[in-house]
Amino acid sequence: MPQTYAKVQFNENGTPIAEHFDDVYFSKDDAEAETRYVFIANNQLPERWKNWRTRRFTIGETGFGTGLNFLLAAQTLIEVLQQSPQTKLRHLHFVSTEKYPLPQLDWQRALQPFRHLALCEALGTIKVYPVAGCQRFTFSYQELHFTLDLWIGDVLEQLPNIQYEQAGPIDAWFLDGFAPSKNPGMWQAELFAEMARLSHSTTTFATFTAAGFVKRGLQTAGFNVEKRPGFGRKRDMLAGNFSTCDTVPPMRDTPYLKRAAVKCSHSNTPNIAVIGGGIAAACMAYALTKRGSEVTMITKGNALADAASGNPQAAVYPQLNAQPSYLSQIQVASFAYCKQFYIHLAQSGANFQHDWCGVLQIGFSETVQQRQEKLIDNEIWPNSLIYSVSQQEVADITGVDLPYAGLFIPDAGWLVPAEVVQAVMDAARQLAMVNVSFNTRVIGIEHTDSDSVNVHVRTETGDEKVQQFDAVVFATGHSSQQLPLLDQLPMSLTRGQVESINSQTPLPALRTVLCHKGYLTPALNGRHALGSTYVKQDTNSDYRETESIQNLATQAKSMAACDWAQTLRHDGVGRAAVRCSTPDHLPLVGAIPNCKQQQQQYNGFMEKRRRELPQEPAVYANTFVLTGLGSRGFTTAPLMAEVLASQMFAEAAPLSHELLATINPNRFLLRSLKRGEG
Ligand code: SAM
Repeated sequence: MPQTYAKVQFNENGTPIAEHFDDVYFSKDDAEAETRYVFIANNQLPERWKNWRTRRFTIGETGFGTGLNFLLAAQTLIEVLQQSPQTKLRHLHFVSTEKYPLPQLDWQRALQPFRHLALCEALGTIKVYPVAGCQRFTFSYQELHFTLDLWIGDVLEQLPNIQYEQAGPIDAWFLDGFAPSKNPGMWQAELFAEMARLSHSTTTFATFTAAGFVKRGLQTAGFNVEKRPGFGRKRDMLAGNFSTCDTVPPMRDTPYLKRAAVKCSHSNTPNIAVIGGGIAAACMAYALTKRGSEVTMITKGNALADAASGNPQAAVYPQLNAQPSYLSQIQVASFAYCKQFYIHLAQSGANFQHDWCGVLQIGFSETVQQRQEKLIDNEIWPNSLIYSVSQQEVADITGVDLPYAGLFIPDAGWLVPAEVVQAVMDAARQLAMVNVSFNTRVIGIEHTDSDSVNVHVRTETGDEKVQQFDAVVFATGHSSQQLPLLDQLPMSLTRGQVESINSQTPLPALRTVLCHKGYLTPALNGRHALGSTYVKQDTNSDYRETESIQNLATQAKSMAACDWAQTLRHDGVGRAAVRCSTPDHLPLVGAIPNCKQQQQQYNGFMEKRRRELPQEPAVYANTFVLTGLGSRGFTTAPLMAEVLASQMFAEAAPLSHELLATINPNRFLLRSLKRGEG
């Protein structure tokens, strides 16, 4: 689980060298020309891209290193689009693996010579954590979109985690990595077999090496391999294509966990309904428009972000356990993605108030201190993500008198939810048509023979109508439980009230978000948000003074050693909303299961052997859900929307098989069937 950063040295030419392998990341002579020749020309990318007939092309790479290959692939696509605007290609998906990600400062230094490349600056600002699994980052340049999936860890362990829904997702392989003599561990039969699993009938590959065992290994895995002239002083290299042979390993996916894509034969520009008006719905609309869909948003509210997404300030940070729980792994991947997503949004001119001021978790009791110590001692999460701070450091970081030690998450911060939701919607509208129907309730869903979905709605004035869509996504937060098809999924609803208090001594000095049993944010327009209450199964969202008192009492109790925390005053300004979570606190992301049919399909589950189980779990065609984000929506929604969009469009997913299973909406049903409760 824990990974380490690369140890990098720079030689007299400024070329980075990886200490773990005692080898240079790229050739000192002409790194750009080498990549353009070996990987780009030998995969025939410019020619293929000119007439590419779909929106997306996916490159798989072993050994991300500095990302130079990624930058040059992106640059090539930008050049191709300038010369051949007729190409349908708009989205480059780059799936790479890296055992030792570069520390940010070394990375920025290594990229210095490539600042003329369009995505260089943006790439240099992302922060990759040395945590195993996928971290997704997205970029755009004019009308092009770039998705970078960095699978951190050994390539032999990470490639098997990549899930896809239909044919293998990789269109071209960049088989990089240090020379086989310097890095024998990587060039294994398992690597070639995984490349085959992820390939399809027109997948190509190229590699700088011409080693005989690499050639034979690729051939055994099903690739046609040619020796071609190498770059510069290198005599030969290898390139070729996949020839779908019998030795391709089967899909690793367990049949009952298969995630259905959109069946959409109707149009090139699907029209997808997103039900909801909060951060999950906005992120979904954005993820769909990025993939060329038009979106109709349907919300019962009279404005965006009028429910749980409407609090005055939201803290954005990963919830980390002392063990690498599924929840924490999803939180880290979500946090890495959302941070870059929000930075990108702000850099593109969106106007939302936010501050990446860090989140400080106070060790306010002995039990919490022990938990915090364990979290650090277990060395699961890297220092670049979270580290322990002394009492003095707490005072320095927060700017207020706090006689506690704690844990600090330096990259975390806060933002203004409703402004962010609006900004995400504006960004979606720049990509494709997005209509929003306010004051409109969904009252029924009907599936047609042609795989369209009819959505029955009722407006505030009582008018009813039926609209037809290619697909529907429910991102409906706490309303989900009352909606057709979703009422069969287990969800729990919890009311939470958040206070907005006047800044009072010493709070104007507070520079960072404080978390304890509750939380307290730095001032925004002279007021601080603090919260929150948790009232289970209460769906009332009226303000209650009793809960204001309770919220202040939580601050007083958690910071019992601070006089100032005992005398905080509220002035009756608070906001309550209802959060939607699930029994295992993990989101619901995927196709909506037809529980009745799955019950029949998988009844007697444990007795049936895997191959006897039906291939695909019964789901409602083209009908999906993204909910159960609890109070963590601003951290998790951006990535969860990407996860769902990747599923809907049959792309390589940005989470491992294992993590995808934990958010699959049919997991509760499967668990009960496994327990023999069918
Ligand atoms: N493509 C890179 C670029 O554009 O900078 C250069 C790659 S560098 C020659 C090789 C990279 O492969 C290094 O970053 C190294 O850490 C990584 N690597 C080596 N063995 C690996 C393995 N078994 N799994 C994942 N990554 C590995």
